[in-house]
Amino acid sequence: MSDPTRPAGAKIIAVANQKGGVGKTTTSINLAAALGERGCRVLLIDLDPQGNASTGIGIEADDRDFSTYDLLLDDAPIAQVIRPTRIEGVLICPATTDLSSADMELVSNEKRSFLLHDVLRQPAIDQFDLDYILIDCPPSLSQLTINAMVAAHSVLVPLQAEFFALEGLSQLMLTVREVRQSANRDLRIEGVVLTMYDVRNNLSQQVEADARATLGDLVFRTMIPRNVRVSEAPSYAMPVLNYDSSSRGAVAYRALAEELLTRHRAVKQRS
Ligand code: ADP
Ligand code: MG
Repeated sequence: MSDPTRPAGAKIIAVANQKGGVGKTTTSINLAAALGERGCRVLLIDLDPQGNASTGIGIEADDRDFSTYDLLLDDAPIAQVIRPTRIEGVLICPATTDLSSADMELVSNEKRSFLLHDVLRQPAIDQFDLDYILIDCPPSLSQLTINAMVAAHSVLVPLQAEFFALEGLSQLMLTVREVRQSANRDLRIEGVVLTMYDVRNNLSQQVEADARATLGDLVFRTMIPRNVRVSEAPSYAMPVLNYDSSSRGAVAYRALAEELLTRHRAVKQRS
């Protein structure tokens, strides 16, 4: 993107929440696609052994010769692992089930928290001319998620608009604080995005009210509605933006990308 206000180098965002099924992967895929549509160059890193982000963006399981595991634990050259997708502006570093043993293997590795950080600081990454790197984290506060937080500039937290949604958040915030104290002083919370929001549901509204009261401006204005097109898109191996461009889900993810870009421009102008 030839935007003179963009910060130098790519902005690295970890999409994290230790709860499963809250919309991390959906948000990673669709925010990547929406930023790509806006002319950004985006790398999506699949850091979940389940590989749902890889599948959801169109990379089949038997077409992943090199994966995030090779990048982190086998010193694979970055250019071998990062590959294009069919989605405009979006590159991917795919995951395979190999990654499920990474946590165990990392225990005995003294650089265990810094592997992804170091990979993403290699000069070789410059050839991709990236604006954003989105990291789709696994549903745990494991060593892999810690790697994402150590590597990232910020953490984006999808919060499912349902009962108990806010409960897991304090644990997540505690982990962010620990990472700040030990390895990444400047790690910020990018924001919390409410997902699977249903306006007709009192509970959704209650969760929204609680989240805004507790977290204030950290909560994005944009909320992602529960929308069947969003849940159908992965089985067609596409972001909802491509599967059904005018669906409410697609419109919401475009708005989220816009809100993110606006916030970043504002930060840039202040500094
Ligand atoms: P996570 O990565 O946090 O485990 P996912 O992104 O895989 O969560 O989402 C969990 C499930 O919810 C998936 O089946 C996904 O298709 C569905 N889903 C996510 N967001 C929405 C939405 N806005 N509307 C409808 N279904 C959604
Ligand atoms: Mg996921």
